[in-house]
Amino acid sequence: MQNHSETLFDRAVQKIPGGVNSPVRAFQAVGGRPRFMAKATQQHIWDVDGRQYTDYVGSWGPMILGHNHPVIRQAAVHAAQSGLSFGAATPAEVEMAELICGLVPSVEMVRMVNSGTEAVMSALRVARGFTGRDKIIKFEGCYHGHCDAMLVKAGSGVMTAGVPDSAGVPEGCAKDTLTARYNDLESVKKLFAEFPRQIAAVIIEPVAANMGVVTPKDNFLQDLRELCTKENALLIFDEVITGFRLGLSGAQGLFGVAPDLTTFGKIVGAGMPVGAYGGRKEIMEMVSPVGAVYQAGTLSGNPVAMAAGLAQLNLLVEHPEVYDHLFALGEHLRNGLKQMIQCHDLPCTVTGVGSLACLFFTKEAVTDYQTAKSSDTAAFGAYFRHMLEHGIYLAPSQFEAVFLSNAHTMKDIDFLLHTAEGFWD
Ligand code: PMP
Repeated sequence: MQNHSETLFDRAVQKIPGGVNSPVRAFQAVGGRPRFMAKATQQHIWDVDGRQYTDYVGSWGPMILGHNHPVIRQAAVHAAQSGLSFGAATPAEVEMAELICGLVPSVEMVRMVNSGTEAVMSALRVARGFTGRDKIIKFEGCYHGHCDAMLVKAGSGVMTAGVPDSAGVPEGCAKDTLTARYNDLESVKKLFAEFPRQIAAVIIEPVAANMGVVTPKDNFLQDLRELCTKENALLIFDEVITGFRLGLSGAQGLFGVAPDLTTFGKIVGAGMPVGAYGGRKEIMEMVSPVGAVYQAGTLSGNPVAMAAGLAQLNLLVEHPEVYDHLFALGEHLRNGLKQMIQCHDLPCTVTGVGSLACLFFTKEAVTDYQTAKSSDTAAFGAYFRHMLEHGIYLAPSQFEAVFLSNAHTMKDIDFLLHTAEGFWD
């Protein structure tokens, strides 16, 4: 007999492409069929068949305080009681803008949007408008959402599917996207030399978390900052994942590098559909209605979404010790996995920083797209299925991160390590 998840999937594939509303939810890369989820609280998630999992996806990052936090839920419910959307300015938007600008010093002005994709798409337009240049440098394996210009050598679901580019992206769009190698400053310098005064911006995930997790080498981000300044190009940090995760001022605070523009998503909306982009005032004043760069949104700054996001950010501000816990969990997980690799001489590598981690099924040190790609994805698939059967819900792809939340405990990590060990026994 089929269970509810299977029945739902059979129905879903008839009416929704692949049965999912985002390809990263499909289990194509790991084998099997997606589990349909019914509810979640703290570090746990339950599927429609009542199976409980410890969740290491956390809605792909937003649930940094664990699922269904009562304070955040109450804030959203309270806001909803006053109306779901007005399409007019609201106090919460002002509070949100002040809070983000207060926490992230490089952001002097900010605009709310509805997703990370929109944040990136808008930031690129502003960068082009501000510099009067067309070309953008991105890094192989970094994912910046699904706007046309960024679907070139992208990470995440694009990488998982083994599709380097997407159909439907006009050549004209892709031709202004140049790709460099992560952690390789020379590859960026080469592009600046080849296209003098044509590059509007360099966009990067300051910690790449869409080709698995790849951390920046010493000074890579600092050097990139200097290079962009020298070339009069803007530096854009895509902090959709790292923003408010690697600290209250994100990866830029952790590494001490100030970009010109930053994009946010995920945590800033606490699970509601929210993104944001911001940066230096003179750049952001290019945005309409002040400036000539058009960008708009019927539901942008939605009051329910702002209430949820503000509640989460305010909790993080009030409890900065959350980051100590998140970093300690991450250390414990990475160290435990490293020990296991050493003990059993496993063909694996561990990466990560803070509450982001990745177990790559390759012996190579993973520093960029090429080395990430050397992973044995079939072995990852078998590992994923083993973990799932033991109640551990990981992202269903080698090229994604483990997301830790404040609700996870050291005991949860011990159980994950114990279960992982069982895979090789
Ligand atoms: N940038 C980064 C770094 C991301 O990880 C993602 C999504 N995972 C995006 C942009 C796109 O965000 P969204 O899915 O909200 O459009």
